[in-house]
Amino acid sequence: MTKTFVDTLDHTDSKRHIPHEFEVPNGTASLRVALEHHPHRAASAEYANQVSLTLFDPNGFRGARHNNADQTIHLSAKRATSGYLPGEIVAGTWTVVLDTHRILPPEPLEYRITVEVATEPTTEPSQRYEPGTTAPRGPGWYRGDLHGHTLHSDGAWDVPDFVRFARDYRLDFVTLTDHNTVSGLAEFDSLRDNDLLTIGGMELTTYYGHALALGTREWHEWRSFDGRTMTDIASTILDKGGLFVIAHPRSPGDPACTGCRWEFDEMMPGIAPAVEIWNGIWRPYNEEGLHLYYAWLNEGHRLVATAGTDIHGQPPPEVTGGATNVVYAEELSEAAVLGAIRRGRLYLSGGPDLRLTATDDRGTETMIGGTVASTDAITVHSSWRNTLDGDRVRLIVNGEIHEEIDASHTDEGSWNLAGETTRWFLVEVRDAQGGMRAITNPVFVEPR
Ligand SMILES: [Zn+2]
Ligand SMILES: [Zn+2]
Repeated sequence: MTKTFVDTLDHTDSKRHIPHEFEVPNGTASLRVALEHHPHRAASAEYANQVSLTLFDPNGFRGARHNNADQTIHLSAKRATSGYLPGEIVAGTWTVVLDTHRILPPEPLEYRITVEVATEPTTEPSQRYEPGTTAPRGPGWYRGDLHGHTLHSDGAWDVPDFVRFARDYRLDFVTLTDHNTVSGLAEFDSLRDNDLLTIGGMELTTYYGHALALGTREWHEWRSFDGRTMTDIASTILDKGGLFVIAHPRSPGDPACTGCRWEFDEMMPGIAPAVEIWNGIWRPYNEEGLHLYYAWLNEGHRLVATAGTDIHGQPPPEVTGGATNVVYAEELSEAAVLGAIRRGRLYLSGGPDLRLTATDDRGTETMIGGTVASTDAITVHSSWRNTLDGDRVRLIVNGEIHEEIDASHTDEGSWNLAGETTRWFLVEVRDAQGGMRAITNPVFVEPR
């Protein structure tokens, strides 16, 4: 059986979800769905059109391969194209959705979706993966990445290459967050061992901003329709135990990086518990995102800052040292690492090791992510290792530079802050050009 859908769209059809329903008969063993569209890039348009498919069987999500040049899906009980979930080809009504992330003028976009079903059982070997295990290690500082992609969406690497990258950089934990799919996670989890903890994830890649759902392995509805707001989407993820992180909030948006800039007015930051302030290498949009983060902290939000390489394949050399999350966790397990991140017990680093503690007037010591209850003097202590010549350490109080010192003259600093006027503070390490080298999460201050 073959079914074909043909239509023509123009730029006003950008940011739509266009459903196409088809019937799968009893006894179907495999399915092929192919998208062709033309032009890939309109004449004189600065950027290519960007359209992707999402597939649903009668019971729910079966996959997506966001922004991958190959939009042909092969699916059977045993195997699936990257981005899609192998499994029984259930009889009934299926839906293939065309997600129109970006259609640029002037030419219209013609597309054709072809669906073919076959009854011959596939003879190919099964893609089944047994999850690996990571023996929990005790309390300590653990390094990891919270944002990366494979060819299950628009990355260049397959899952084993991605895991090799994490091992090469001696990460303790790594999260796979492919765009709008979780199909890589079974293989990903099969590759974990005592040296490397794998953490489930997905990047919700919406038309108006990106967010990471961390610590979950199920697909999350990322589309806003029927009155569903981003707050509804985020609260569903939080209710299921996931960590919701606003990703690269000040990334350039349309049209260059369509949907990449966070534009959900109701979630500035709303119920989001965390925001990725360091995406890839330190760039102007990260600096802008940092200012937004400081503004949100000054508004009274207790937000956690995270980093992510957002790696899509072989990194340029300057990325290799960058943007690792260094987390103080009670043990190396998914629950403990994510629990520590939720509490803000991490700093983000491109190399330096950083510590920051605060002691209140009663002698109680608090680490990053914690709260000092004081209206009197607070003693702040920070220390650093592995800084480079020219690096400077800044104590930031309520978003302003309280003091900046040359990191090479000393490897620690102490300050006294007034408990009455201090709302939060943290430490940045900047290089000679002002680029970020490391930054802690804040310590908060509340009146006793
Ligand atoms: Zn993104
Ligand atoms: Zn990403």
